[in-house]
Amino acid sequence: MSLIDNYNSVSSRLSAAYELGKSAGTAKTEPVLIAVSKTHPASDIQELYDAGVRVFGENKVQELCEKEEILPKDIEWHLIGHLQRNKVKYIVGKVALIHSVDSLRLAEEISKEAGKAGVTCDILLEVNVAEEESKFGISTAETEELARQISVLPGVRIRGLMTIAPFVENPEENRVYFRKLRELSVDIAGKNIDNVYMDVLSMGMTGDFEVAAQEGATFVRVGTAIFGQRSYPV
Ligand SMILES: *Cc1c(COP(=O)(O)O)cnc(C)c1O
Repeated sequence: MSLIDNYNSVSSRLSAAYELGKSAGTAKTEPVLIAVSKTHPASDIQELYDAGVRVFGENKVQELCEKEEILPKDIEWHLIGHLQRNKVKYIVGKVALIHSVDSLRLAEEISKEAGKAGVTCDILLEVNVAEEESKFGISTAETEELARQISVLPGVRIRGLMTIAPFVENPEENRVYFRKLRELSVDIAGKNIDNVYMDVLSMGMTGDFEVAAQEGATFVRVGTAIFGQRSYPV
């Protein structure tokens, strides 16, 4: 199977899952598939690009910047991994969306760099819905308050929420977390906070993207099912 065959197969599974969610009333817009290219060479990205794919995700700032530099300029890059404040300056203006904001201090840094660059930076709040110790992200209880604090910062626009669900054998086990994230997003949207949009839900990876799509994901982040196993863990 070529990379584009893999991509197309994920893409059709995604559409089918979305149709189920639409019938169930839990999904409203067809999710966008982010091809998560971390650890894989730029040549793999180019191969998919040549077949028409434009939306890619990376979890490390340096790797994203190195690839961005040499690949076509109309690629839409998503930063999906944990972001340190001292790296913000390298990616503001380069990425379409930062999926992993989990503190006011980080958002303030993004605001500062967005101001310098004269851009508005779209972000998601990363929520550790399952409350796993090992994961980054804020708790569901903290989310509204953080959204309110960030909403007043210039140059930053909260578009929605992101979660990384637990690693499980049976993806159905994660349905409860995807549902919780959607409910939280509906809840916060209902508060009508200025400058907080809640039209984006980033959830679902190789093992569970179909369940996430059924539960209303607007972005799914899929690496392994497209590019194959990563040769080293990240
Ligand atoms: C690596 C990664 C993914 C993709 O994981 P796969 O299981 O390979 O699909 C998705 N989201 C984040 C934040 C990641 O770091």
